[in-house]
Amino acid sequence: MKIAVVAIQGNIEEHITTAEKALKEMGLPGEVIPVRHSGTIPLCDAIILPGGESTTLGRLMAREGIDGEIKEAATAGKPIMGTCAGLVLLAKDGGEQAQRTGQHLLGLMDINVDRNAFGGQRESFEVPLEVSILDSPYNAVFIRAPVITRVKSGVDVLATFEEHIVAVKQGNVLALAFHPELTEDFRIHRHFFGLVQ
Ligand code: GLN
Repeated sequence: MKIAVVAIQGNIEEHITTAEKALKEMGLPGEVIPVRHSGTIPLCDAIILPGGESTTLGRLMAREGIDGEIKEAATAGKPIMGTCAGLVLLAKDGGEQAQRTGQHLLGLMDINVDRNAFGGQRESFEVPLEVSILDSPYNAVFIRAPVITRVKSGVDVLATFEEHIVAVKQGNVLALAFHPELTEDFRIHRHFFGLVQ
């Protein structure tokens, strides 16, 4: 199994290490490949879009031609997981901030998002979160996280925090406002790798 981690900017090393550990824990042979240029995504079975700065990530993915490859992978049904800024990039509607800055989005999910939704002292925090695909709470790390403000039909809400939607799934595309690469709990990765055909 080949797992692509878009490695343009952001939490790249953490995602690579955690994905490798999760594959090992599941006993799955596989490799995690950092992707900086076009040409690699079509060879991979699943794609991880890390957190970071969604404006920069969107611009550079388009410049490298990676954006089109991710859209094709989604059409082919390959699992895609976006975390934090990666969630923003997956949205069809990036909210007021994205509109104002003309932010480049992949638009693979029928969701509206609001960037940097937890301002001030709550910019970064950790909470035990009920996630519908897991059987017990998951320690979720939020860092200047976005929230999902609206979902259309076909989108499953997996988790909410203080009435904000913070995890969703649409087909094989998974989006999380928090950072599964920053914990030693690999259950979300397990679920994600389980989606690979
Ligand atoms: N606030 C960032 C953005 O919208 C995301 C933060 C993160 O990925 N940790 O680009």
